[in-house]
Formats: sequence, structure tokens, C-alpha cells
Amino acid sequence: MDSMLCSICKCEYDQSIKVPRVLTNCGHTYCQMCILKLLNNNTENSENKLVCPEDNILYTDITSNEVFPINLKIINMLNEKTNRNNSIDL
Ligand SMILES: [Zn+2]
Ligand SMILES: [Zn+2]
Repeated sequence: MDSMLCSICKCEYDQSIKVPRVLTNCGHTYCQMCILKLLNNNTENSENKLVCPEDNILYTDITSNEVFPINLKIINMLNEKTNRNNSIDL
């Protein structure tokens, strides 16, 4: 199930720095910041590797977090939430 919270940092996704991105092979979604951190854990290796913390699926040759597509379902949920909040508060 898609959640509005990143399961690594427990922060809510947003559309600037904590963009929700999908790990394409296993389908897990994490925020961009955590994906970058996972990538930076492997700086000793010349290859850019990332291991999904939930199922240990290995991704290789990751040049940037941009290779993982944005989870548009979560972006839509964020937009709906923002619209709702605006109509109540403003
Ligand atoms: Zn995160
Ligand atoms: Zn996974």
C-alpha cells in the first residue's frame, strides 16, 4: 500500500526535497533524500549501488536518484490534501 510517509525517515513526502520515488524492481517507494543517502553509503565502491532496506534487492549503475520514477500516485494524494487544507484554512 502506498503511504504518505517515507518508511526510512518517517517523514511526509513533498514535491521539493522529499519527492517520493519508486524503486522500479521491487516497487518500494522512498523519499529522494533517503535514496540519495542509500546511494552515498556506497562511496568506497566505484559502482553506484543501492540496496532496498526492506527486501535487500540490489540496484546497480545508479547514476542519480533521477533514474527512479516519481510516484505520481503519492504526488496526487499530496495535491488533494493541500487543496483540502487550503479550502479550510484560507
Ligand atoms: Zn525518507
Ligand atoms: Zn524493496
